[in-house]
Formats: sequence, C-alpha cells, structure tokens
Amino acid sequence: MIEHNKTLITAEDRKALDALLQTGWISQGQEAARLEDLFVGHYNGGAACALSSGTAALFIALKSLGIVAGEVVALPTYACSALLNAVYMAGAEPIPVDVMPDTYCLDPNNLNIQAANARYIISVNTFGVKSDIANLLGRGRILIEDCCHSLGSNWFREKELGESDVSIFSFYATKTITGGQGGLIWSRASNVIESAKDFRQFDCRDDYKPRFNFQMTDIQAALINSQMIRLQAICKRRKEIAQLYANALPQGFVCQSKILEISSIPYRFVIRAPNIIFRDALQKHMLDSGIRCIVPLEKHELLHRYLGLNPENYPVSESLADTTLSLPIYPALKDEELNSILSTMNEFQL
Ligand SMILES: *Cc1c(COP(=O)(O)O)cnc(C)c1O
Repeated sequence: MIEHNKTLITAEDRKALDALLQTGWISQGQEAARLEDLFVGHYNGGAACALSSGTAALFIALKSLGIVAGEVVALPTYACSALLNAVYMAGAEPIPVDVMPDTYCLDPNNLNIQAANARYIISVNTFGVKSDIANLLGRGRILIEDCCHSLGSNWFREKELGESDVSIFSFYATKTITGGQGGLIWSRASNVIESAKDFRQFDCRDDYKPRFNFQMTDIQAALINSQMIRLQAICKRRKEIAQLYANALPQGFVCQSKILEISSIPYRFVIRAPNIIFRDALQKHMLDSGIRCIVPLEKHELLHRYLGLNPENYPVSESLADTTLSLPIYPALKDEELNSILSTMNEFQL
C-alpha cells in the first residue's frame, strides 16, 4: 500500500537525537532556542517562540496580541478545527468565512460580507498556497498567518514573509518537518514574542498572572533542527512531485491554482473533480491499485457545519468537500511508487 503520508527520519536525524539525549537535558533548552534562531535567520529578522503545538501557537498568538474575551476572530471555514479550539480557548468568538474556489484560501470579499467587523483574522496558507494577505489587511485588522502548510515558502520568493502580524507553525507528525508534536510563533514585533515567551511557562516567577505550560522539549527541537537542515531539499522534492502530478491529471480534474508557483510549497497536492462521482471514482480507482488518496476535509468537518451554521452561506467550501482529493506527496515516496501513482492516474477512466 502506498500511504497518503509518511514521515522521513534519516540516520542523521537519529544521530542528532541521540546526541541530545546524551547531554541529559531533555526539557526546553538550547535546542529550542536554536530552532528560534533558525526562524529568525530564515525570516531575516523578527523573533520566534517555540511551543508545544500549532494549536498552542494559535492560542498564544491571540493572547500575545492582546485579545480579550468576546472579541471576534474571522477564519476560513475550509480549515481544521484547531482554529476554532484556539479561538474558544482565548474566550473569543469565531466567525467562519467562505474560501475562494481556485486557491481554497480565505476570500477577502467574503470576509467583508461575512465578518466585516472582525478585528482579528486567522488566515491559512491552505495546502501550501499563500493566502491573499495584501487584501485581508487594513481596516485596523490584526492578522495571524497560519503557515502550518507553508513552512519553507519564503526561501522561494523574493519578498519575505512578515506582512502579517504573526506567523504560526506546527511540527505535528504529518507536517513537512516534524518533532512528533511542536509549534512556533514568529513575528516582526518583538513585544509579541516577549509576551508569548512569558505565557509559555509558569515556574519561578516573582509575580502572578495565569501562565501556561506550552513548552517544546529539546527532544522535539533536536529532531526538528536536524530536519530543518534539509528543508530546502524537502521543498524542492515536493515541488518536483507536484509538477509531475500536474502533468498527469486525469481528464476533467484541475489542480489547486497557484500550487505550482515559485512561492508555494505543495504540502498537499489536492485536485478538484467536476463532481462527486468523478472524485469518488478516482479515489476508488487509486485504492484498487494500492494507493491511498484522501478527502482532505469532509463536509461534516467544515467549521460552519461544526458550529451549526447554514451551509447555504458557504457554497464554495461545501463544493470543495464534495470534489477534492489529496494525492500522496512526500519526500519518502520512492521513484517506483511515484511511477505507479502516475501510471494509475493515467489509466483512470469513468
Ligand atoms: C496542523 C495544523 C494546525 C494545528 O497544529 P497542531 O500542531 O496539530 O496543534 C493548525 N492549522 C493548520 C492549518 C494545521 O495544518
């Protein structure tokens, strides 16, 4: 079976982990600090705070940006429920907004209609395509850019990230680079990162306010740092595979727009069928050949559905849930597996 996703932990990664274990320091320490430095180097400035997960990063970002109970946060409905959880943890109110049919990212026009007065926005670079940041900003809005799918993208574009107020990342097992779990906030605003670091741990303080335990262990950080060395090569490989898939799309299917652009990192290669019959048929055809493709977000997982809102107000996301299919794309994919995926796609007929 060719699985939809697979981690790639190399001999070098295991060596780095072993070296860390031999130091005897396994809680948050020098390796976590080194990861933060890597991000500052990667983004050419700003500051970073390593955390225990992407969800923690979203929550701590909201807290550090000064959100107070009852404030409103706009977010794409075509996204994972981690966004809702973080907003609720912060005592705020989430407002799902429909996405664009071509990039699957938050639609700035819908934002102005569905959540015109939201002061905070969480925008996801869905499957590795940069969301329309320029058109989401303005009106005094505060923008959190969810980069869990787009790690590495700024190495491939001229203009650096950093237009948004905060960027957040996840190092969960299925992500481009993983420590099993892990998260990080990066921002140009050093006061936001200082605040994040204050919230991150509670022990040995002179004063009291509610603080948390959202630390990344050095075990996680050592594994992540070792993979970070390969980030550029990992992204290049993903881009190569994406190009091969784009050239072999079955008739009637289209790929996510902008996924092949230089600034995108194909974290997922999600194609769109003309209708649910084509989509389900291709998924079955692939599975019959031992290739697992998944529906990236099922209808019941759409955030407006979780919240019991009227599906008629979210037609694009509803349609995406019916028509999208995610193909295996990861550097651990062997050449013969890749060839098998390509030829199986080629044989598809409805
Ligand atoms: C994975 C993910 C998260 C949550 O990260 P965790 O580390 O699993 O908590 C949030 N947003 C997006 C877009 C993600 O892909």
